[in-house]
Amino acid sequence: MFCPNNMGGGDTEDNLALACPNCNWHKGPNLAAIDPLTLVTISLFHPRKNSWEEHFTWNEHLLEGKTAIGRATVQLLKLNDPQRVEVRRQSSTGPDTLDNLS
Ligand SMILES: [Zn+2]
Repeated sequence: MFCPNNMGGGDTEDNLALACPNCNWHKGPNLAAIDPLTLVTISLFHPRKNSWEEHFTWNEHLLEGKTAIGRATVQLLKLNDPQRVEVRRQSSTGPDTLDNLS
């Protein structure tokens, strides 16, 4: 897991990951979070070591955690915040959107 600066991590490339401001803000220095289903503390999703497909799935515009790691990460990073879900909905290029443009 990436080591936060306040825990001795550095600015080397192997300790950095691209993230949007929302995710970066919500992650903060956390390396782990509570799985809302089991209430067990578990490591957050590691974008270089974990498989996205193993831990997450889309349900319409909601991102769902398939595992404890996925659920804890979705909750901590507030990945289904109503504003974020609305942006996904409006960004959708499904048939309804195309129909509305013509
Ligand atoms: Zn993000």
